[in-house]
Amino acid sequence: MNTTLRTTSGTVYLVGAGPGSLGLITVRGVECLKEADLVLYDYLANPAAVEHAPDGAELVCLGHHSTGRNLSPGEIVDRMIAEARSGRKVVRLKGGDPFVFGRGGDETDALREAGIPFEVVPGVTSGLAVGSLCEIPITHHDEASAVALVTGHERDDKTESHLDYEALAAFPGTLVIYMGVTRVAKWSQALIRHGKAPDTPVAIVRWCSRAQQQMVRSSLKTVTDVVTKSGLRPPALFVVGDVVKRSPQLSWFAERPLFGARILVAGSADTSRKLRDRLAVLGADVISQPAVRITEPADWAPVDAALDRVEQYDWMVFTSGNGVDRLVQRLFDRGEDVRRLGCVKLAAAGSGTAERLARYHLHADAVLGQFHLESLAHTLVEVAGGHRFLLPGASRGRQALAEALATAGGRVDQVDVYDSVDVDEPNPDVETALSLDEIDWITITSANTARSLVRLYGDGLRRAHLASISPMTSAALRDLGYETAVEASPHTATALVDAILHCGRPNR
Ligand code: SAH
Repeated sequence: MNTTLRTTSGTVYLVGAGPGSLGLITVRGVECLKEADLVLYDYLANPAAVEHAPDGAELVCLGHHSTGRNLSPGEIVDRMIAEARSGRKVVRLKGGDPFVFGRGGDETDALREAGIPFEVVPGVTSGLAVGSLCEIPITHHDEASAVALVTGHERDDKTESHLDYEALAAFPGTLVIYMGVTRVAKWSQALIRHGKAPDTPVAIVRWCSRAQQQMVRSSLKTVTDVVTKSGLRPPALFVVGDVVKRSPQLSWFAERPLFGARILVAGSADTSRKLRDRLAVLGADVISQPAVRITEPADWAPVDAALDRVEQYDWMVFTSGNGVDRLVQRLFDRGEDVRRLGCVKLAAAGSGTAERLARYHLHADAVLGQFHLESLAHTLVEVAGGHRFLLPGASRGRQALAEALATAGGRVDQVDVYDSVDVDEPNPDVETALSLDEIDWITITSANTARSLVRLYGDGLRRAHLASISPMTSAALRDLGYETAVEASPHTATALVDAILHCGRPNR
């Protein structure tokens, strides 16, 4: 990192979030978010991107300043300066690129004047992303050797247009118009008046790169009517030029198997992340609903006591990735490291838990299916010759395994390395989406999650298809009065996604 940034004052990072799809932020952008104490993000940045920020970081959505309900550009700058002066690392996350219609220049001027160290991280600007996502060759060897990024919304206080429409009409290439929805009549007519052919093709692209991306075609002459009739609202881009004719009816992005499907992913953070990433790659719009919140255990003393005599155990059995993280973190906090576990065999319930051990370069000596506790217990006691077991986990969630081990003849100690608390506040966005029949699928990854969802949303769940990860989960749902549409086989996140895929795209 630049040495000028290593000061006692905080730093401001102006980060371009890209056009909105989570994967289209830069590596450096994610690094900055991971360090942030405060994230100020605007409505064009995907709110899910702020999940890169550490636990405890303050996250502030700035909405859109034109609504009048949010901070003005001046107030945002003042807040950044004040926060940086108090020593915080501030990430100002902006849609697209901070220096393309993003007021980035105004903000760096103010920061420099205030003596605040800053860094600017470029982003993929939406007007160029639109080419790849809609397969419009913005430049083309035969048809467009240049491209112009143009605002369709000049400031109200500008009495005369800064735009030279005559030059724009004659521009030998593609015009990409940002912020053009509300004044579409003004700029399209001005271009025609100055000689641009009225039948020039126009692509209107809303929420480019997001799951709800929409593309509508028109011509320069009809674009105002098309916007009005289709009720298109911002944010949208207009690509004006012959190259629009070269784009296919459905681009690769819109052709993905789950494009347009809205899926609620409920359950533990780990499985949810895996599901979310996979579903998003297939084109779905994913909303997350955590079922539980992870907190510190009430008391570390029993964990410390068990770690002090860890050599007395044959096996340490992990039932969740969280259990692995928390136990290893506790070792670090004690000034130790994973060598302390060298004397004990490690078992992981489920391949996800084994993968988590691998993150710490720990190899699981046994990995067993999460859903067959008896065989897991039997294998560990009889086949692997173990009798003394330590189960670090949550106060709930491993009882069945502990009992199965005891029944198979093992001696079992359980210690709480974290606590899991039910989330009891329904997400209002999810409630609304359910009531409007906007959610196509809900993925449910445990019996606990099923109970939690029913408690949170009740009959609203009948408005979506339920996708269950296992017979145990389906049975819990059935007991609560809900039928599942599909069940994963085998009982993994990947198979759950396949089951949804098998049913095809929603026909909305
Ligand atoms: N700095 C941003 C632009 C901000 S100006 C960038 O580099 O992309 C706001 C305008 O950007 C919107 O009115 C719209 O025209 C465009 N825009 C930004 N993100 C968009 C998206 N995902 N889809 C369509 N238009 C988008």
